[in-house]
Amino acid sequence: RLEIRNLRRAFDGRPVVDDISFAIQPGQVTCLLGPSGCGKSTTLRMIAGVEMQDSGEIYVDGQLVCDTVFRLPPERREIGLMFQDFALFPHLSVADNVAFGLKKASKAEKRARVEELLARVDLMRFIDGFPHQLSGGEQQRVALARALAPRPKIMLMDEPFSGLDNRLRDGIRDETLNILKEENTAVLLVTHEPEEAMRMADEIALMRDGRIVQQGAPYNVYTRPVDRAAVAFFSDTN
Ligand code: ATP
Ligand code: MG
Repeated sequence: RLEIRNLRRAFDGRPVVDDISFAIQPGQVTCLLGPSGCGKSTTLRMIAGVEMQDSGEIYVDGQLVCDTVFRLPPERREIGLMFQDFALFPHLSVADNVAFGLKKASKAEKRARVEELLARVDLMRFIDGFPHQLSGGEQQRVALARALAPRPKIMLMDEPFSGLDNRLRDGIRDETLNILKEENTAVLLVTHEPEEAMRMADEIALMRDGRIVQQGAPYNVYTRPVDRAAVAFFSDTN
């Protein structure tokens, strides 16, 4: 379980994340949905630990992970990351990419976990291949396997499907969701596309200008928008 309380971050005196609080549960997908520039990625980066908040706290399973005094380094937060530009390591094989986060495991343990995950994303045949031999969608699935390998409690995903063509995207979205639910991971998915949030989320947090303006089940958020701006956002097809 991930909980953030009163998170704030300003750049050059301009608040970009302006007092955000929410919690996400294991086995659930929460979507941070909002227009470009509203502060979604900044929120995710603070949770991941690669950006420092000005104030507010982050908890994982009730344990303080970060406030303005204490700061657990990113690699100790049990948080997996999947970002659109978070590419595979080109010089490492598919197997070594997936094993990358398994620093402490024995060789045999690593191999077993890599095979288990590659079987899950249906890419065992590429186990000794290299990223450049894979299509974009296949690379995405390897990235998912890599993010899942250390069994993170929480998965942060920042527009992870936006580089894929429409035909591939639906399949990979569904597959990704199935795997994350099976692993009982708590998922925070960032997107600016209402359609993606409606399809994937158990809960939507609608963001605007650094704040959460509405939160709830997708159907409720969609059918009972809080204000005109929310209506406009949902009806804008980009
Ligand atoms: P998008 O959907 O386009 O990815 P976003 O909601 O993820 O948008 P953020 O990347 O969080 O938006 O950025 C929010 C605002 O903060 C933007 O105006 C951005 O320019 C600004 N910003 C983000 N990081 C920095 C930084 N390191 N220095 C200065 N300004 C920043
Ligand atoms: Mg972003």
